[in-house]
Amino acid sequence: MRLSQMLFATLREDPAEAEIPSHKLLVRAGYIRRIGSGVYAYLPLMWRVLQKVSQIVREEMNAAGAQECLLTQLQPSELWKESGRWDTYTKAEGIMFALTDRQGRELGLGPTHEEVITMVARDMVRSYRQLPVNLYQIQTKFRDEIRPRFGLMRGREFIMKDAYSFDMDEAGMKESYQKMNVAYHNVLRRCGLAFRAVDADSGAIGGSGSQEFMVLADAGEDEVLYTEDGKYAANVEKAVSLPPDAVASTFKKYEKLDTPNTPTIASLAELLKCSPTQILKNVLYQVTYDNGMNVLVLVSIRGDQDVNEVKLQNELAKLAGEYGGNAVIGLKVPGEEDQQQWATKPLPLGYIAPDLADDYIQGSKSLAAKFLRMVDKTAVELKNFVTGSNESGFHVVGANWGKQFDLPKIAVDVRKAIVGDRSIHDPSQTLQSARGIEIGHIFQLGTKYSKAMNATYTNEQGEEMPLVMGCYGIGVSRLAQAAVEQSYDKDGIIWPVAIAPYQVVVVIPNVNDNNQVSAAEVIYSELNRVGIEAILDDRDERAGVKFKDADLVGIPYRIVTGRSLQQSKVEVVSRATKESQEISVHEVVPTLKRWIDEAIAGS
Ligand code: ATP
Ligand code: MG
Repeated sequence: MRLSQMLFATLREDPAEAEIPSHKLLVRAGYIRRIGSGVYAYLPLMWRVLQKVSQIVREEMNAAGAQECLLTQLQPSELWKESGRWDTYTKAEGIMFALTDRQGRELGLGPTHEEVITMVARDMVRSYRQLPVNLYQIQTKFRDEIRPRFGLMRGREFIMKDAYSFDMDEAGMKESYQKMNVAYHNVLRRCGLAFRAVDADSGAIGGSGSQEFMVLADAGEDEVLYTEDGKYAANVEKAVSLPPDAVASTFKKYEKLDTPNTPTIASLAELLKCSPTQILKNVLYQVTYDNGMNVLVLVSIRGDQDVNEVKLQNELAKLAGEYGGNAVIGLKVPGEEDQQQWATKPLPLGYIAPDLADDYIQGSKSLAAKFLRMVDKTAVELKNFVTGSNESGFHVVGANWGKQFDLPKIAVDVRKAIVGDRSIHDPSQTLQSARGIEIGHIFQLGTKYSKAMNATYTNEQGEEMPLVMGCYGIGVSRLAQAAVEQSYDKDGIIWPVAIAPYQVVVVIPNVNDNNQVSAAEVIYSELNRVGIEAILDDRDERAGVKFKDADLVGIPYRIVTGRSLQQSKVEVVSRATKESQEISVHEVVPTLKRWIDEAIAGS
């Protein structure tokens, strides 16, 4: 490609809309243009990167036995009603763009494709002989994100590869999942990214396993907890660990104490000169189910620990049926306004005990009349503990389950694992923390969709069985930007060779010098001939401008047909290391061919 003919413009200044380096650089270097909130045009350079990433994804999916297809972006609401997700996706979470066509039919723009693919499988898979099967596609997804930001990282329109596997049974699904796990490792390695596969939350779906692929970068929106020995890594939402040991209580006698101004655990521990591990904390939440039902939840947990709201939400989802719902659509700590809706009298906030009376609640059609009481495992073992008295300014000490308080029937693990906790697999290892960008997610779905949508096959014994599914996503456009977030310097982008839009840029320092022009033309056509992707910077610009642009755009190798032509040599500069060397005009193309092949094979 000749730069003089390319739609190409770089910016000197950082765009106001961009917060993180990769976003700034992609806009400044002319890769993307913002069209609207969370909506970006992929300009020619970006499109080449996206196609390279897609091609690597495609090769690894094909190698794992998956077949490419292309599903519909317009999705009839009936399908989503069958799976039970229409209302949650369009109303409660509001992540799906929905529209009505001229015939008055409701449609959604695909945020994901479980419903569509399950319909296809329902229609086409009859017998166990057709299994296993894995279908994938690479295409635009639409999600009306609450906070679109960071350019392609969290867009409302973005490119995803999604794959769906169908197996006869759980064991088959696990095998399909394992193949995808290997393929994902290969994709990220080939794209030249430093990453970690981590245990992930499977959400309320209750699938048996799920992993996220995290590209490590400070701008990541996720927190990963891991151990140095490399044996454990998990999204903080999912992470487990050993809580610190509790200190034995110093309170032998049950009594109520005057504890003014101690609404926090820290202030209480200080006043009573006790360890926070001797305190029982009772945290109030309000959960909303998809049928509009609200429930007030009282979680008792050890004072030094915090509630992981993702884990709590998963536990509450399991109880949805008891309140006539299917899914959780909201979870919050009820604020003043919420309390005004239902509290019959002011709550003893900061001094709540596990037996806070149900008569605080003014029940209604959309609000359960009783607290849902849960206890975290850290609190079950507590003896002679300190806790609230349901009276502002007072706490009780020396309390015990089974004596002053009934142990809630629902015991759960909802504590938040944090940095510094001991690891379960080896308590001598402590959890470390890193920021990550979620690039991919693989998920054992089981029969959630096949049962809901009646997608079955006939097994060898002639019985009709639900298909057992897995789903696997890679954010192609997010991955491309994450590569930049992981690899840049003060001058611009440093693309990994495998996904760079072009591999080489040939710079003519002075386009009025015939020798420079003709040498560059010869090298440029030779590069094309051997299959190296090259840009020829033949613009009538100062050499300094061209070098600056080449650095900003981040092409891995730069060839300069300058002064050294007198010795029949050209200058070759590596973008990553800035190392420069002179190579003879005849050697330069084979040398670069070797370097590029090595770089791509090595990653
Ligand atoms: P997140 O937690 O970041 O919102 P998700 O868990 O909702 O993502 P999945 O449904 O697992 O995402 O989608 C698969 C992949 O698609 C993600 O791993 C991510 O790489 C990518 N992705 C998801 N949402 C977006 C988005 N808004 N913009 C760009 N890429 C996205
Ligand atoms: Mg995910």
